Amino acid sequence: MQRRPGFPARLDGPAGATSRVAQLSVRPVVVPAAPQGVGLDSAAVRARMVQKLAAGGISSPAVLHAMAAVERHRFVDSALVNQAYEDTSLPIGLAQTISKPSVVARMCELLLGAEGSRAAGLGRVLEIGTGCGYQAAVLSHIAREVYSVERLRGLHEKARDNLRHLRLANVHLLFGDGMQGYAKGAPYAAIIAAAGGEAVPQAWCDQLAPGGRLVAPMALAGGQQVLLVIDKTAHGLKQSVLEPVHFVPLKSGIA
Ligand code: SAH
Repeated sequence: MQRRPGFPARLDGPAGATSRVAQLSVRPVVVPAAPQGVGLDSAAVRARMVQKLAAGGISSPAVLHAMAAVERHRFVDSALVNQAYEDTSLPIGLAQTISKPSVVARMCELLLGAEGSRAAGLGRVLEIGTGCGYQAAVLSHIAREVYSVERLRGLHEKARDNLRHLRLANVHLLFGDGMQGYAKGAPYAAIIAAAGGEAVPQAWCDQLAPGGRLVAPMALAGGQQVLLVIDKTAHGLKQSVLEPVHFVPLKSGIA
């Protein structure tokens, strides 16, 4: 029995893809050119993205290193790989989006500014909204442990698939309603939300360690969404409102 080629072939490089097709197929097959930013090119394209992040104000070497290390193009649909290193959010299915690189980097840098993490580095982090798993992968480079919760089973599974080959031993993907936080992993040195609600769930504040920091998009009374930072200090919770942002809505329950 003749074996059919397994498509889509992995386009690690035009040479590899071509020889795989030549080996397995008897009919001529048109191999699409590797899109820009894939395979051998991607490190250079990512390096340019990181230069832009630095020029845009990201100064933490740990964050810049993490952004250079994680291959964003592997987390987006193959039709979108050309845009993977542009500073834009992209659809990841089920009406959700992967955040812009500049926003991921900005939020990660804010996490590192937590009072309790300045000396010893970032410990356990809780991410609400795994999505495709990209930000969880970035977090795995700057934190000791990452717990990431997703309420949509389809995306939880997609993130699992995306992260499998990376073998990130410090990332724990959880399926559930992140509005409850994840008590089993608490207390957290930091909590980061990738979806915006109208109020910070009490569970998040409860599960934050002393000296810990929460970074989340939040809708103000007028409806505008802003980035909110909450620090758990010896004198209670201290809240700072930062720049406007555009995140998908935080929803309760699982689906
Ligand atoms: N960090 C993600 C961004 C995903 S978009 C990435 O890198 O791809 C935000 C995600 O938050 C969506 O997948 C959405 O389903 C999820 N979300 C919204 N409300 C949630 C909740 N209560 N608990 C867990 N996930 C939630």
